[in-house]
Amino acid sequence: MRINNYVAPDNLAEAYLVLNEHNSNTVLGGCTYLRLTSKNIDTAIDLSRLGLRYIEETADAVEIGALATYRDIEVSGILQSLFSGVLPQSVMVIVGVQFRNLATVGATVYSRYGFSDLNTALLALNPEVVLYHAGRIPMALFLEQGASKDILEKVIIPKADLRASFKYLRNSSGDYAILNVAVARSRDEWKIVVGARPFRAMIAAEASKCLSGSRLQKEDIERAAKTTADELEFGTNMRSSREYRQAVCEVLVQRAIQEVIS
Ligand SMILES: Cc1cc2nc3c(=O)[nH]c(=O)nc-3n(C[C@H](O)[C@H](O)[C@H](O)COP(=O)(O)OP(=O)(O)OC[C@H]3O[C@@H](n4cnc5c(N)ncnc54)[C@H](O)[C@@H]3O)c2cc1C
Repeated sequence: MRINNYVAPDNLAEAYLVLNEHNSNTVLGGCTYLRLTSKNIDTAIDLSRLGLRYIEETADAVEIGALATYRDIEVSGILQSLFSGVLPQSVMVIVGVQFRNLATVGATVYSRYGFSDLNTALLALNPEVVLYHAGRIPMALFLEQGASKDILEKVIIPKADLRASFKYLRNSSGDYAILNVAVARSRDEWKIVVGARPFRAMIAAEASKCLSGSRLQKEDIERAAKTTADELEFGTNMRSSREYRQAVCEVLVQRAIQEVIS
């Protein structure tokens, strides 16, 4: 990529202003993806002076700043002890430690990558995203509609008495997942999320609802897994066919539910 100018603003208002001054102005995360592009960037905006690299626990939530890296998530004592550790589990196999020291939460969530492991695990935890211009919105809505030329400031996850599980299937270590699944249970309310379909992570609303009202017997779990595979859309790419993904979905959802119950 080619960068004509570089700025490191002192506040988000200035960063947002610069971002919207020119069509090709670009926010920098860890640059793991940007460096693979041949983009012609007029002004690159470095957010590293804004204090956005943090993972903090408040009385009722966990807040993850946009510049927190995958490695920060992986080694965070807060995230290892909350939500059954699904967030560290979702990133700890991605590429390697050097890579995870660079890739950031803000870039991953904002870019709404279909293959993302982190976005699938996050979505099961009912989070909200905070954008500088658009404000605070549920992550599920943000993943659907996105935002143009905005800056993701942080992700807020409400604390809940919750058990969760994250599962994935890869052709080989270091590759993108063929499919990933996160399941969370808070009291009697279940949430089943499937990503890398290869489309972006989505809640299986029908299946989650039918599991919430069930007795969690073997046939209830099988029905929820089948409903998930039926209600979501799957696609074919170089990693897997649509049919294979659909079959894998049923298996991973069953395993994730079993893990939450046990
Ligand atoms: C080789 C490789 C393998 C990968 N494998 C996996 C995998 O197996 N599983 C997986 O889940 N992910 C994988 N990823 C994706 C990775 O997890 C990150 O999501 C991705 O690399 C972006 O991280 P970054 O911080 O480097 O973003 P950058 O490259 O810096 O930025 C990416 C985009 O996000 C924008 N951006 C950055 N920060 C913000 C912000 N705060 N607000 C708004 N926009 C912003 C940038 O302008 C840019 O358009 C892989 C990536 C690579 C390069």
